[in-house]
Amino acid sequence: MTFLSAKTSVALPDPHAIVAAFHEHFAEYMTMTRDGEAVHFEADYGNGTFGAEDGRFAARINCVSENILLSVKAMVAEHIVEFSGDTSLDFRWEGDGAELRELPNLFSGRVVRAYNLTPKMRRVVIAIDEGIERLMSGGLHVRILILPDQARAPVWPHVSKTGAIVWAQGEDEQARRVYTIRSGDIKRGEINLDFVMHEGDDMPGAHFGATAAAGDIVGIVGPGGELPDAEDYVFAGDETALPVMLRMAAEMPAGKKLTVYAEIDNENERQEVSSKAQVTWNWLYRDGKAAGTAGLLQQSLRSHGWNGHEGLHVFVGCEKSEARIIKKMLGDEAGLPKTCLHTAGYWVRGANDDH
Ligand SMILES: Cc1cc2nc3c(=O)[nH]c(=O)nc-3n(C[C@H](O)[C@H](O)[C@H](O)COP(=O)(O)OP(=O)(O)OC[C@H]3O[C@@H](n4cnc5c(N)ncnc54)[C@H](O)[C@@H]3O)c2cc1C
Repeated sequence: MTFLSAKTSVALPDPHAIVAAFHEHFAEYMTMTRDGEAVHFEADYGNGTFGAEDGRFAARINCVSENILLSVKAMVAEHIVEFSGDTSLDFRWEGDGAELRELPNLFSGRVVRAYNLTPKMRRVVIAIDEGIERLMSGGLHVRILILPDQARAPVWPHVSKTGAIVWAQGEDEQARRVYTIRSGDIKRGEINLDFVMHEGDDMPGAHFGATAAAGDIVGIVGPGGELPDAEDYVFAGDETALPVMLRMAAEMPAGKKLTVYAEIDNENERQEVSSKAQVTWNWLYRDGKAAGTAGLLQQSLRSHGWNGHEGLHVFVGCEKSEARIIKKMLGDEAGLPKTCLHTAGYWVRGANDDH
């Protein structure tokens, strides 16, 4: 596999503490191993090293694509600032994409129409000005940028010299939320995003889904996230993960085996499942209980007949604390190694999920 590479270093009072902070913070999301003063990370999309050298914190990263390299550089840059508490740091990246200032994975879209798929799931169809092929082939999810005022020209983000992404501020600030590209039509230049109409007060994502009108402009950053190759899949998720589970099932080739546990409020929220794979789809009903509190996914996965992990991939997408409990349970009780598990917090109960 060919990698794109970049490196940076920055003088800090205690670079060892920053290496330790990266180690602690990211161990939950990727495989990290300590090697003397350095910490090495390994993920599906690349690898790299965080180290302390001559009074400097140093990061070296290798990633499989330009977009991922950009995101990882931004993530490293933002965490250097967060962990050191110093917002005046002025560092530079060397290597691939060092001169990049425009986000190559930013698209602008215009709402075409919106309609309900079920009582609580609303589809928004968005026409993409340019680059629909890249959006439809590069990954499953995008971050949408919701404009504060459709009447004012959007101020889109750019990349700073440190690699951090600079988002519009003040009255131009956009809410950012992650959604799945459920499907799309390359010829028409359109993508379909499906929004859960959930409970809550201040919820820009659900509000956009509920009120989007033809002609509204929306920014789109991405895509990212892919389904690893396996023979036998188990998916478990609530309605926020329904778009991705339905898409992954729809794109799965014949010959694969898939078991799905899909938690929804009631049977009116069911959607049609289509797949060439051998699918066992289990709908789990909360029947009025608050989302993220019913424990149905955990129960179902606990009693799933696990039979080794050769050729297995497990995906879990649901409320964040529920996802954490399930991840621990699948490791401790089902004995599944981290390498065949992808558990993700899709939303946070009681908090705004400002991605
Ligand atoms: C990779 C990924 C893909 C995703 N794909 C989709 C998708 O295709 N469709 C989709 O609808 N969502 C999807 N989500 C989840 C979505 O990003 C979150 O639900 C997000 O928090 C919604 O933002 P909001 O502005 O509506 O609410 P927020 O501002 O985040 O939260 C406001 C309030 O609403 C509550 N809340 C948020 N989400 C829910 C919920 N689902 N149920 C109950 N209460 C909730 C919060 O706890 C909070 O109290 C995805 C998330 C990830 C990480």
